[in-house]
Amino acid sequence: MQLLGLLCCMVLFTLSSTFTIGRFSRDTSHAIDGEKVMRWDIPFINKDVKTPLVGGDMALPPGRNALIDKAYRWQFPIPYILDNSLDLNAKGVIFQAFETYRLKSCVDFKPYEGEKSFIRFEKLDGCWSMVGDLKEGQRLSLGENCDYKGTIMHEILHALGFYHEQSRTDRDNYVNIWWNQIIPGMEHNFNKYDDSFITDQNTPYDYESIMHYGPYSFNVDPRYPTITAKDPELTHVLGQYNDFSSLDLLRLNRMYNCSAPLTLLDQCSFETLGICGMVPRNQENGVQWVHSRSSSQSPDHTLVGQCRDAGHYMFFSTNSGKAGDSAFLESRTLYPKRKLQCLQLFYKMTGSPKDKLVIWTKQIESDGTPTGKAIATLNGDGDHSWKIAHVPLSMNGKSFYAFQGISGDPSHSSGGILLDDVTLAETRCPSATWRIPNFSSYLASYAVGEYIQSPRFYSPEGYGFGLQLLPNSYVNGYIGAFFHLTSGENDKTMNWPAGNRQVTLTVLDQDPDVTQRQSFSYSFTTNGKQLIPGTDRLYWDDPSKVGTYDPSCDCYRGWTWGYNAFFSHFDLHRRSYLKNDDLILFIEFEDLTPLINQPASNDI
Ligand SMILES: [Zn+2]
Repeated sequence: MQLLGLLCCMVLFTLSSTFTIGRFSRDTSHAIDGEKVMRWDIPFINKDVKTPLVGGDMALPPGRNALIDKAYRWQFPIPYILDNSLDLNAKGVIFQAFETYRLKSCVDFKPYEGEKSFIRFEKLDGCWSMVGDLKEGQRLSLGENCDYKGTIMHEILHALGFYHEQSRTDRDNYVNIWWNQIIPGMEHNFNKYDDSFITDQNTPYDYESIMHYGPYSFNVDPRYPTITAKDPELTHVLGQYNDFSSLDLLRLNRMYNCSAPLTLLDQCSFETLGICGMVPRNQENGVQWVHSRSSSQSPDHTLVGQCRDAGHYMFFSTNSGKAGDSAFLESRTLYPKRKLQCLQLFYKMTGSPKDKLVIWTKQIESDGTPTGKAIATLNGDGDHSWKIAHVPLSMNGKSFYAFQGISGDPSHSSGGILLDDVTLAETRCPSATWRIPNFSSYLASYAVGEYIQSPRFYSPEGYGFGLQLLPNSYVNGYIGAFFHLTSGENDKTMNWPAGNRQVTLTVLDQDPDVTQRQSFSYSFTTNGKQLIPGTDRLYWDDPSKVGTYDPSCDCYRGWTWGYNAFFSHFDLHRRSYLKNDDLILFIEFEDLTPLINQPASNDI
């Protein structure tokens, strides 16, 4: 009992020492979704659209047979035009969707330069696309409320030649269609297509497809579904719009013969003996990185909490030898294209707080010799939990990256450095990463409307910002998330108000394979002219002028803007959003002003 009491105290201590608790003020906040859950399902958004559409969101010239007929497949990169009718937020989200395609497939996009085939992204009525490459230039409409990443990824899949999953020939084996619940005249949206017309690429029926309707599509009565899975457990996953399912990717990569994703350079969860071609270098004194198996005392990150005593990680022991002993673990040789990469890794320091994990990049010169530099150092701090880190790299030409473990104080170490689930992609690193450990305890203990205050982060431009996360929001069963600017060290040189900046809040799916992650994100864009209600002061002005002082950060916090129904508790417990009981959020605050008036060849 005593031990239990002590443990509880330690947990409480950890919680209270890490984050500030607050009572959310609805008077100084704006909820984009008001008090209810936003509906992103395309049939709902498109319910009043006048453009003739098939299947709810496909503008389809009759008689065309896009999916099987190879004449309608695209050549990459696909030329695109961002029409100036688009909302600025939609333009930013289109680029996020492009980056997801590049990370997970060989589908690529480029600005239009007079090609015959192209996609013009345009704000028309509703969210819809033509199907396949029509070889004459075509429209893809992103109307009101279509500026959501999953919606845009869905419409691009139509453009690439895909139909809805529930129109497969074999769908009646897997789902029930409730015909009497469908709005009269909308029944055609549930048509099946013959297998001479569409192909499933020899993949099983996919309940989790981003191309599958949600249960309540085209329904007469909001209480009753029009489509349910035969297995009731699976009805909950129908209509997910977060990201590609693994079968979406398989079909996409088969249809377009993708051999590898474009921007994913390397990833390793250390599950196989070959450790992804990484090379542990023996040092003179014998210390080195060791491929180690998970145990209940020392679990890995890949399978933590899912399978006992399974999974592997790399381990550098720091409890023997002398201070300063070090060893390298080098990646295989890589050939980056973009000169900009982000290395993501999970690590745990169980030895001395003086231990160090140094990340290096090394370029291989024409005579074969590597010249390297240390890019970042992660220090031990006495907190023995798995953490996530991002290191921006700029490898150029034939190169590799390396981890160097350095032992700090063997006499005060009973462990070492653990490394797992490494991903190297040719993308930008997130500007802010917020890990909330023991998240279940917040869900259990926080009253409705109490929030956890994030630390202060800085955007690449230098704006200070933070997030207030409500484990139990005002919408029952949901987490709420509200963004605000904070005063910071660069404020005198920043432009105010901070308009035309895109805020993106992402919940990381911690699947070890980055292509299988279904991370969830919402984006909104700040309006510089927005006024604080009832005043003539600007919402996104310098927080030291329009915000309130918070002694916990010795800073001013501006008004908040966000979502009451940000992410559901049900979804939180699916997949790997709460792996190891860690909730990991990425927060971006990005300048979109260069996208306002693109010289986007709009005069064709
Ligand atoms: Zn669709």
